Amino acid sequence: MIQVRNLDFSYHNQHVLQDINFHVEPGTIVSIMGPNGSGKSTLLRLLRGRLKPEAGQVCWSGAEAYLLPRREMATRVAVVPQQMQQPFGFQVREMVAMGRYIYQRALAGPSRRDWAIVDQALADTDSSHLARRCSAELSGGELQRVMLARALAQQASVMMLDEATSQLDMGHKRSICMLLRDLCQQGKTIVQVSHDMNSAAEISQQILLLDPCGSQLGFGPPEDVLSNDHIQKAYGVEVDIERHPRGGQLRFLPRPLGGASISPYITP
Ligand code: ADP
Ligand code: MG
Repeated sequence: MIQVRNLDFSYHNQHVLQDINFHVEPGTIVSIMGPNGSGKSTLLRLLRGRLKPEAGQVCWSGAEAYLLPRREMATRVAVVPQQMQQPFGFQVREMVAMGRYIYQRALAGPSRRDWAIVDQALADTDSSHLARRCSAELSGGELQRVMLARALAQQASVMMLDEATSQLDMGHKRSICMLLRDLCQQGKTIVQVSHDMNSAAEISQQILLLDPCGSQLGFGPPEDVLSNDHIQKAYGVEVDIERHPRGGQLRFLPRPLGGASISPYITP
């Protein structure tokens, strides 16, 4: 269980996150949503202890995240960052095998079991055909699937995904959503940052929605947090919220652009 209480954070005296309160239950998907620059990636860094809170706490089963040893955190959390620093000159299969490093003894390469886990992770992300390709030559969407495979291969109990499916086509996005939902049903805990409101509402037990100033608009089930009023406050966009005629899932429809030519970001 990850518990966040009264969390504040600033970069160089610039407030980024203010009074954030929520928790992540094991075996659930929590989606962090909010406009660009609202502090989502910063919050993920705080959650995995890479930054120290300015005020308040991030606790993992009672222990402050930033005080936990890095190696221990690496065994607990697999991360797909928003900006990927790609090691150069590796084959995709080798790159996915990096997810197994924490389990290997010094100087020992991946075991036969490690390679089997790597190949399964490649298959689960529809990336098996990319295994022998050079990782630097992949398309944006292919690279995202390979980075997801690397995180899966790590077999950590928690996954933190920062806009990790943003470049996937409709079919791959759907299959990764189904995979995340299955993983969660098997007990994995997933914290993801996403701008895809329809998918996030469909697969998440809880949503944390931030406003442009990094304050919390709501935390709770999608139908409570993703209200018209909150979406307007977060993004300055009016949406129609409907239920899918087949399954009843929430669907968010931004109003048509119409004839208005004034962007909400331009003050007359
Ligand atoms: P989001 O992921 O929601 O788009 P970020 O958490 O990346 O937002 O950034 C929140 C704010 O903090 C932005 O205004 C960004 O410019 C700023 N910021 C992010 N990283 C740093 C940093 N290392 N130093 C200073 N400011 C930063
Ligand atoms: Mg971000």
